[in-house]
Amino acid sequence: MKTLLVAEYRDGKLLNSTYELLAFAQQLGADSAMFLVGSDTALPQYNGTLYLADVGKYSEFNPKVHKQLLLDVIAEEQPDYVVFSHSSYGWDLAPRISLALGAAHASEVVEIADGVPVLPVCNAKLRRQIKSKTAQLVITLQAGAFALEGEPGGSPNLVAIDTDTAAQLEFGGYEEAEAGGVDLSKAEVIVSAGRGIGKPDNMGIIQELAKALKGEYGASRPVVDAEWVDRNRQVGTTGQTVSPKLYVACGISGAIQHLAGMKQSEFVVAINTDKDAPIGEVADVLVVADLKEFLPLFTKKIVECRK
Ligand SMILES: Cc1cc2nc3c(=O)[nH]c(=O)nc-3n(C[C@H](O)[C@H](O)[C@H](O)COP(=O)(O)OP(=O)(O)OC[C@H]3O[C@@H](n4cnc5c(N)ncnc54)[C@H](O)[C@@H]3O)c2cc1C
Repeated sequence: MKTLLVAEYRDGKLLNSTYELLAFAQQLGADSAMFLVGSDTALPQYNGTLYLADVGKYSEFNPKVHKQLLLDVIAEEQPDYVVFSHSSYGWDLAPRISLALGAAHASEVVEIADGVPVLPVCNAKLRRQIKSKTAQLVITLQAGAFALEGEPGGSPNLVAIDTDTAAQLEFGGYEEAEAGGVDLSKAEVIVSAGRGIGKPDNMGIIQELAKALKGEYGASRPVVDAEWVDRNRQVGTTGQTVSPKLYVACGISGAIQHLAGMKQSEFVVAINTDKDAPIGEVADVLVVADLKEFLPLFTKKIVECRK
């Protein structure tokens, strides 16, 4: 079994998601080679062959050219899996590669089970295992779903690659989205509300706990989609990535897209009526309780202790 891992380079840096690609290969027990349009001044710690195209020449975004560079490497390596991150770069390039190869494409892989990729379905309420009918499979990996066992190490065996494919566009650079509202990434304490709060009126008990802990409040996506909380407070893959000292997850199940945004938190307390909720897997403390009963008592105790 062989994987070709498509690493990413952004704004002069190698992205850390490179190591999630490596973790996928590790979990699959597969050999790997890596592809990068990047620079030899920012290489991954990796003990394998790295096909490197010069970002100065081919730029960070140039689909037609990157596609050709990658197809040439695929022809050389003949991988079973071509593996991208589920990022704007991966969303763009993976379907182009899949189409060019006539290979199946699986988007947003979160796990490997019985040796095959697993994808979330029904808004992550269910998971399905997929087996490709084509010899090669092109996949994207959900951010945060795969973590390396042990530290990465080594220096890659570099193979410089080139193409004479003409570019059809010129990449102008990235523009930061306008930062509106609160910057949760700097908060030391975050109390987040999930769908388990039941109704918008219950946001009050979340905000009171956040205030008692001198922190900020956040939310999972359904709470934001329901417009109970501003979008700029959403935590997760399509919201903010946070790493507070304390994260209190209230009525949040722990879907992979939420975990990807908060699992770097130092200490996680979860309040959930379901003792088997997946948030329990990352929580340091899981309180099995109805948040409507537990939170007001908890907040009262904290306020008393602070007096
Ligand atoms: C492409 C994509 C991107 C996404 N991006 C994000 C993202 O950035 N952030 C994000 O959060 N989600 C994101 N999602 C959605 C994600 O898949 C989940 O659907 C979502 O995180 C679930 O939110 P939740 O945990 O609040 O709700 P649910 O999964 O419905 O969980 C509610 C939890 O509350 C508990 N509960 C119910 N009542 C109570 C009570 N009275 N007291 C205590 N506990 C109670 C339940 O046991 C349950 O565990 C994304 C999905 C997709 C497909």
